[in-house]
Amino acid sequence: MSKNIFNDTETAFKLKSRIKLFNAKFLFIVITKKILVSILTKSTLFLIKLKFPIKWALKGTIYNHFCGGINYDECKKTISEMKSLGVNSILDYSVEALEKEEDFQRAYNKKIEIIDLTKSNDSIPFAVFKPTSLGRYELFKKVSLKIELQTIEKKEWNRVKNRFDKICEHAKKSNVKILIDAEEYDVQFAIDSLALEMMKKFNVSNVIVYNTIQLYRWDRIPFIISLIKKYKNSKFKFGFKLVRGAYMEKERDLALKEGYKSPICQTKIETDQNFDNCVDLMFDNLNMINFFVASHNENSNLKVIDKMNKFSLSNDDEKIWFGQLYGMGDNISYNLAKRGYNVAKIIPFGPVENLIPYLIRRAQENSSIEGQSNRELDLINYELLRRSKI
Ligand SMILES: Cc1cc2nc3c(=O)[nH]c(=O)nc-3n(C[C@H](O)[C@H](O)[C@H](O)COP(=O)(O)OP(=O)(O)OC[C@H]3O[C@@H](n4cnc5c(N)ncnc54)[C@H](O)[C@@H]3O)c2cc1C
Repeated sequence: MSKNIFNDTETAFKLKSRIKLFNAKFLFIVITKKILVSILTKSTLFLIKLKFPIKWALKGTIYNHFCGGINYDECKKTISEMKSLGVNSILDYSVEALEKEEDFQRAYNKKIEIIDLTKSNDSIPFAVFKPTSLGRYELFKKVSLKIELQTIEKKEWNRVKNRFDKICEHAKKSNVKILIDAEEYDVQFAIDSLALEMMKKFNVSNVIVYNTIQLYRWDRIPFIISLIKKYKNSKFKFGFKLVRGAYMEKERDLALKEGYKSPICQTKIETDQNFDNCVDLMFDNLNMINFFVASHNENSNLKVIDKMNKFSLSNDDEKIWFGQLYGMGDNISYNLAKRGYNVAKIIPFGPVENLIPYLIRRAQENSSIEGQSNRELDLINYELLRRSKI
């Protein structure tokens, strides 16, 4: 399959006016500069601390590019426009670093509310949640380290498990698939264990629950192989969302500080190889796995469509989904959708202040030398040039 399919910028940016493209161009010029991102991140956090009213500036620029809106109503137009070009939506109400029990309950209620919205809308086939939005980070960490919980913590952990269970059960009843996000290494063991329990329970007749596999971790392929071996005669199927991983620098710093071997591959090439090997593993076990390729890397997406061809799967085979984040990888999303592949974009939404950590991660990812950063800018420039000639 030729790489040229992702060069079709006319398809990629059909929904973007010239003004929006110019805004995107300006934004990507800024966020592809590492130093500028670092300065802007620090000054934004400082101004927010001083309660300086900069929300409007963020909303008019980076927020509008990467987020759907403050609430569901603000996202509706985007969802239906994307669907008109075959691209589905996944609504992600962003909350980060919660601490209190009532916050976790509120986050849980919000997830149930989103599943209810989703079930009556065929443009939104998946829901998504971040595990530590349902319980204390430190508690996930303790469970991951297999430290014995005190009686009060056991009760707290039971409430977390109950929220997990209820969200997945609600998704199953509503026939909405659910993606469980992956997080930092020190909480991931607890997340994996809960996700496995959910798959055993809810992935019997069809695949509802997808756990996320971070392929920047060198231990993930052996992890999946051991799951496949252990459960090959079981009745349930696995759902996996494949990503490279979003917390590389933090993980490396922590490993160095605490004196353990970094869980992250040493080079980008190793991560890429790991991703490729994992795709092969998925195809070799398609009888017991459905998967969601969550990547802006063109080669990774091309590899999957090549393999679908080799395995004579139809483009819209329900076992395989492709996904990108709203505001990124439009050349991948819209060109895959044009050819009938299953595609969904994650649309973060919610109050501007909730989304600041997410926006910082997007800016940092785009300023990384080894990412796809400049490719976004090249594509926008190419489309502006193409339009200027017609
Ligand atoms: C739909 C969707 C859902 C996502 N959900 C999650 C999630 O639940 N959890 C999560 O952690 N992330 C998630 N991500 C983010 C993802 O993990 C990546 O950070 C992001 O997509 C960039 O990787 P890439 O495959 O798109 O592209 P690329 O640009 O090819 O890869 C960049 C990635 O490669 C890895 N990398 C870069 N440099 C090195 C190096 N020197 N050594 C080793 N590895 C390196 C890092 O993971 C980096 O993010 C999601 C992404 C998408 C599109």
